[in-house]
Amino acid sequence: MLQLRRTLSAIRANARQRYTRFRDRLQLLKYLGTRFYCPMCDRRFGRLKSSGEAYYLRGVLVDHATANSVCPQCGSGIRHRFIFAFLQQTYGAWPADLSILHFAPEPGFVEFFQRLRNVRYIGCDLQPCPERGLQQVDILDIPYPENSFDLIVCIHVLEHIRDDLRAIRELHRCLKPGGKALIAVPIYGKTTFDDPALDFEQRRLMYGIGDHMRLNGLDLQAKLTSAGFRVQLFSTDDVPGDYMDHAASSPHIDSDKYLFWCGK
Ligand SMILES: [Zn+2]
Repeated sequence: MLQLRRTLSAIRANARQRYTRFRDRLQLLKYLGTRFYCPMCDRRFGRLKSSGEAYYLRGVLVDHATANSVCPQCGSGIRHRFIFAFLQQTYGAWPADLSILHFAPEPGFVEFFQRLRNVRYIGCDLQPCPERGLQQVDILDIPYPENSFDLIVCIHVLEHIRDDLRAIRELHRCLKPGGKALIAVPIYGKTTFDDPALDFEQRRLMYGIGDHMRLNGLDLQAKLTSAGFRVQLFSTDDVPGDYMDHAASSPHIDSDKYLFWCGK
């Protein structure tokens, strides 16, 4: 009897999986076409999913709705595809023996980096996450010697850190001379607004998300430079490709369109 129940349960689970796969494939029919290319899942689409909602910035409710934003296959957003396209454009054929440290890794990146041959890849997060193969690492106290990594990837992490300069110094310490750190945060204009006295609710109204510690501006470059980095600023305008609609604009795209390419 128990065996029969197990068999029936396995048949039902299998049928559910097949139905989910069929439904997902059917959903993708809505996005058929060739206008957009997702480099992360290597597929073309006629359009992408919309994203964004209204949230507060500097006390004002701002609509962040963006058409053609999220890949319907892998779920990557514009900034992920932009940064991925930038890395592909920069490295071309990826060199062997690269050591990579990646903070709060985005799923599509992890699979890509892990597939590269002869690469020493460490994905890490503040929270323990062994099921994803991540090391538990505090960015304020990185447990690796100085000059350890050729490439450090840190996307949308620093805005969550109260003492971001200390984190930046740690990134610089761990990077090898000649290595590169790719750092990205949401950018709102030229000048950073940072008030350590704000509580969670006040930060939600000022920064959109209570977990964010500040509104970063392009002057983050000066902070990166003060930690010893040689910094180049790149935007989506510098990285051509069908990974986004370059003619579109929205507060969401504006805040996600930059990356800092930091050398040591
Ligand atoms: Zn994709």
